[in-house]
Amino acid sequence: MFQIIDGKKIAAQIKEEVKSEAEHLRKQGKEICLAVIQVGEDPASSVYVRNKQKACEYVGIQSVLKKLPENISEEELLATIEEMNHDCGINGILVQLPLPRHIDEDKVIKAVHPDKDVDGFHPENVGRLCIGEKGFLPCTPAGIVKLLKYSGIEIDGKECVIVGRSNIVGKPMALLLLRENGTVTIAHSHTKGLKEITKRADILIVAMGKPLFITADYVKEGAAVIDVGIHRKEDGHLCGDVDFASVKEKVSYLTPVPGGVGPMTIAMLMQNCVAASE
Ligand code: NDP
Repeated sequence: MFQIIDGKKIAAQIKEEVKSEAEHLRKQGKEICLAVIQVGEDPASSVYVRNKQKACEYVGIQSVLKKLPENISEEELLATIEEMNHDCGINGILVQLPLPRHIDEDKVIKAVHPDKDVDGFHPENVGRLCIGEKGFLPCTPAGIVKLLKYSGIEIDGKECVIVGRSNIVGKPMALLLLRENGTVTIAHSHTKGLKEITKRADILIVAMGKPLFITADYVKEGAAVIDVGIHRKEDGHLCGDVDFASVKEKVSYLTPVPGGVGPMTIAMLMQNCVAASE
């Protein structure tokens, strides 16, 4: 019998915790404020930004949306970030990605002050994660560790396989699982014999960006499978990188899409905002 890992429910619990922390801080006269920068009008980005703002409103964090035109220059964007870095009324800064092609994403990530980097993407925070120091953790992988822990899935000593090595999901995921004493393998598009590797996993994290790629023959009997991918199908429904219907027959735990990793990403962002104010 497999169990669905209900990300929506776990995220709701975390948001309640954040809500009471935010209230506690407010009573001490501390308001938390997140600044969100959106460049252009990409519809998917608009949805993500709206969801983050809604979560802020729910937990009692102020949010300021700075919408900038698609053709804004890199210099102007960097200047906006610099201004926010110096604004004591702003605790966290988030630049919604992706950015238009003429803007260097790496430069923008590095421009956000590490103490306001609630996405956990700045090299200083990545370095801290790498050497085990306290810092902002990237929201999606941090949310996945919470999902595993809340579901009672032991990481210590387990074979953990991550498919995908992006800077925002795969790599920090590997570091976090290592921190939890998992035995970690990272697979990517040059990996040979992917199936043999994924079938070794007690915990399989899939962040490939390939709809329904992972079918039952990629997973071990009884494994815990976390699906990070999110795709809109032609019929308008969402799906992940994992073929839920076939994989659920073989595993012990599985996250759905939607309602798995996605809500946790936002809940962890809220947690980072509280940490930023402290
Ligand atoms: P990227 O495109 O940056 O990375 C994809 C990774 O998958 C790469 O490392 C790539 O390898 C690897 N890969 C691609 N094809 C294969 C293959 N056939 N075999 C093995 N590895 C492969 O994606 P992201 O990490 O940014 O995101 C992954 C997915 O997660 C996307 O669907 C994205 O929308 C979703 N996402 C969801 C979030 C949420 O909150 N739910 C948050 C962030 C992302 P290589 O490096 O060699 O190219």
